[in-house]
Amino acid sequence: MLKLTDLRGSRRDPRGILPRAQLDVSVAVERIRPVVEAVHQRGFEAIREYTTKFDGVDLTRLRVPEEAIVAAGEALEPEIREALLESISRARRVHRDQRRQEVTTQVVDGGTVTERWIPVRRVGLYVPGGLAVYPSTVVMNVVPAQEAGVDALVVASPPQKENGGLPDARVLAACALLGVDEVYSVGGAQAVAMLGYGSRGRAEVDGAAGIEHCEPVDMITGPGNIWVTAAKRILQGTVGIDAEAGPTEIAILADDTADPRHVAADLISQAEHDPLAASVLVTDSEALVEAVEAVLAPMAAATKHAERVRTSLTGDQSGVVLVDDLEQGLAVVDAYAAEHLEIQTRDARQWAMRVRNAGAIFVGAWSPVSLGDYAAGSNHVLPTAGCARHSSGLSVQSFLRGIHVVEYDEAALKDVARHVVALANAEDLPAHGEAVKARFER
Ligand code: NAD
Repeated sequence: MLKLTDLRGSRRDPRGILPRAQLDVSVAVERIRPVVEAVHQRGFEAIREYTTKFDGVDLTRLRVPEEAIVAAGEALEPEIREALLESISRARRVHRDQRRQEVTTQVVDGGTVTERWIPVRRVGLYVPGGLAVYPSTVVMNVVPAQEAGVDALVVASPPQKENGGLPDARVLAACALLGVDEVYSVGGAQAVAMLGYGSRGRAEVDGAAGIEHCEPVDMITGPGNIWVTAAKRILQGTVGIDAEAGPTEIAILADDTADPRHVAADLISQAEHDPLAASVLVTDSEALVEAVEAVLAPMAAATKHAERVRTSLTGDQSGVVLVDDLEQGLAVVDAYAAEHLEIQTRDARQWAMRVRNAGAIFVGAWSPVSLGDYAAGSNHVLPTAGCARHSSGLSVQSFLRGIHVVEYDEAALKDVARHVVALANAEDLPAHGEAVKARFER
């Protein structure tokens, strides 16, 4: 079922030959730019048009009434409530430990630099809801933002026909459990544009009378499909954006000790998200490949979203990479920089310690990605498409800005003045030096 890339005996840089999706984000950016521009210009009117087109819902209002959020919280099935509360509690424990302390460095006598950590004021959290709905993503966005001390949290999630045009009831219930009351029924690129520009539109088109508008946010976080990810890339700079967390990926580094049924189940569980999701097995064991292939097709056929899983597993973005040994396997997974990396080998922890590039690492047979999706305490909003080479998953740090506060007294400035003047002159910016000298010339 999986395409095979045989790298045995090859010393080529694996980056260009690893399985990757054909439709990459830069292509999607150009296709989705008109949607983002239209929302910027025409606000709610354009949001409504695109919601009709892409979600099949005619939006008569944007903001979800608070009573609907409270009611969804009250109507939540006890089993799901208990699971969400456990997920929230574990995530809170991990994210609370990520809080930053203010640090003051005494650089010289009379001269200090203090680093203060200030949360972003207003943040838009995108919660997907196209092929699947993600109350767990409410937890993964909201908990770190709350632990960072963000003042205002705004959730946007696609309207669901079967919930009367409101976001999914369990998404709303998760908002209720976490005390989030500003929620908008908008999905896709139009939601990202709304969060970034607000819903009024530059052209102030009349046609949105009676609408409770969304004011622009300072930062947008959260995962989504390729259109959401592309829109976030367009908005970057206008607002802050977390790492690009697009169609999901799993890479599994495995040897002959891995259980083929576990490997197959984990590849399928990722493929279930999206036809564009990527499931990649990297192994030095031909026997494992054969054993995985033997169970994969029947397991995939028996799963609920069999068609989506089949499309994803047989797509260009998924496959098996055969390597000579785990050293080469490590180089391959580092080059791939998976959103989720499982290590199912002998001495799994030792191999995990040597990985440089991954969104999150799952070590050994008892730490599957599904655990991290819901209830490990770790965050599941993670960088995709190789962005794990330079970016991290969502954390408290994502919502904080470090501000240096500089405070020197007269003697400390006088002591360093000649160095400032010398460097200012070297850069042909003499007025910089004069600004220091002026303080000592009476
Ligand atoms: P989504 O909310 O991201 O996308 C649905 C929206 O896309 C719809 O509301 C619609 O407006 C818009 N849309 C649909 N088709 C479109 C088209 N042809 N052109 C323009 N817009 C269109 O929900 P989804 O589709 O279920 O995708 C969720 C994604 O999030 C999956 O790929 C999943 O793997 C990913 N995910 C990633 C992470 C992570 O951390 N990387 C975590 C959870 C989920």
